[in-house]
Amino acid sequence: MRAEERTFVAIKPDGVQRGLIGDIVKRFETKGYKVTALKMLQVTDAQAKAHYAEHEGKPFYPRLIRYIQSGPIVAMVVEGYNAVAGVRHLMGSTDPDKAEVGTIRADYAQVMEYNVVHGSDSVESAEREIAIYFNENEIFDERKCMSELVTEYLDAD
Ligand code: UDP
Ligand code: MG
Repeated sequence: MRAEERTFVAIKPDGVQRGLIGDIVKRFETKGYKVTALKMLQVTDAQAKAHYAEHEGKPFYPRLIRYIQSGPIVAMVVEGYNAVAGVRHLMGSTDPDKAEVGTIRADYAQVMEYNVVHGSDSVESAEREIAIYFNENEIFDERKCMSELVTEYLDAD
């Protein structure tokens, strides 16, 4: 049984600088996920360390920390059925040259060091990462379809 989940997504500084925000957000929306929180921000030292704690000590860690702080990111909460795995599937493998054509990393990136997007790797990671970047009152998960909005509008007078 697939579960309604929320995941943390970031458009990394290279994606923001290259003008890919709209294209990338569109991929999640057209898939049918809900973007329930979104903001642009400069990642602080504390946020970078917390976000990538699992990679501390690895050879690529110092460069990864510099990369994620090299310009603003767009941070998002994305919700939907099986959203954690589904979002990573849309993003493709960490290395863009191994990612399947049609995924974000295959289509928009060339090297692992600048792979445009981040997506949580588990429900637990997602909750941990969401808390690094968002307060719960910044997440808006209510959605209304057009007929509900029209009915509300017509009933208002
Ligand atoms: N990364 C890198 N070199 C590596 C492995 C990872 O530069 O050899 C960077 C890359 O930007 C990646 C991030 O570190 O997205 C986090 O690595 P992870 O293995 O968690 O990959 P992801 O979950 O982002 O696919
Ligand atoms: Mg990861």
